[in-house]
Amino acid sequence: MIDRRSLLGCFALAPFAGTPALAASATPTIVTTTGMIADAARRLSGLPVQALMGPGMDPHGHRPTRTDILALSRADVILWHGLNLEAQFTEVLQDLARKTTVAAVAETLPRDRLMADPEYADRPDPHVWFDPRLWSDVVRAVDAALTGAGVDTADNAATYLEEIAQLDVYARQSLATVPERQRILVTAHDAFAYFGRAYGWRVEGIQGISTESEAGLARIEELVTLIVENEIPAVFVESSVSDRSIRALIEGAGARGHNVTIGAELFSDAMGPDGTYEGTYPGMIDHNITAIARALGGDAPERGMAGRLNAGT
Ligand SMILES: [Zn+2]
Repeated sequence: MIDRRSLLGCFALAPFAGTPALAASATPTIVTTTGMIADAARRLSGLPVQALMGPGMDPHGHRPTRTDILALSRADVILWHGLNLEAQFTEVLQDLARKTTVAAVAETLPRDRLMADPEYADRPDPHVWFDPRLWSDVVRAVDAALTGAGVDTADNAATYLEEIAQLDVYARQSLATVPERQRILVTAHDAFAYFGRAYGWRVEGIQGISTESEAGLARIEELVTLIVENEIPAVFVESSVSDRSIRALIEGAGARGHNVTIGAELFSDAMGPDGTYEGTYPGMIDHNITAIARALGGDAPERGMAGRLNAGT
């Protein structure tokens, strides 16, 4: 939410804006937590935007560092996700909201469009970026926050939203080419529920499963059965998941005569490397959709929707 008092605080500096020294600083400093929000802010404002959480960083567990605090305290506009994603930042950002524009852009989504966190039923699942239509509304909230803080976003939102709409069409078309009973996404991280809801896929996570516990073994066995019975050709992993769980899945399926491979690593809570197509929101989603469709027997171009993905994805 945009804190009204903070907007006033921001504009209180306006009388000094005419002086040459401060004219340069009329270019607002925009800082975001996640890369996905930074991508929207960059595209809408045309300005450089700093994301505190770079490629490969986990927003759930990241605690604000001294460098983060410094960047935040110098920012004119701070955009964060909310919905309990950057749980460790809440206090710091509430403090900063007293003196600058701080907007939790995903908090603007109506509650009835949110899914529940699988672990805490009373909390929303924050991973809304996996449904491009839902994310479009977050992009609109970014636009509103930027314009509210006096940043000119011209007509950039329309172009960016059109690109996201095309991404959704591409996702629908390519995922529909996967044989129906193989539309099951087995992933490491339980981040893909919104993807499942948007495209009508079943999503199963293996993260948090210890192969040492009875429950863990039972869960692995359950997933092996699902994979074998539906002849699922690939499961998707992230480096954070223990090899043992994955090996157990692959060996379990193998022992029952079904060969399952490991699909490309999916981008879950962070985008790809800075300066690459995968390091943008459209590129991140294009990569995931293309990798999922191709690994599960569907038909999608090797280099994705826009022919911009690195070969081999
Ligand atoms: Zn996550």
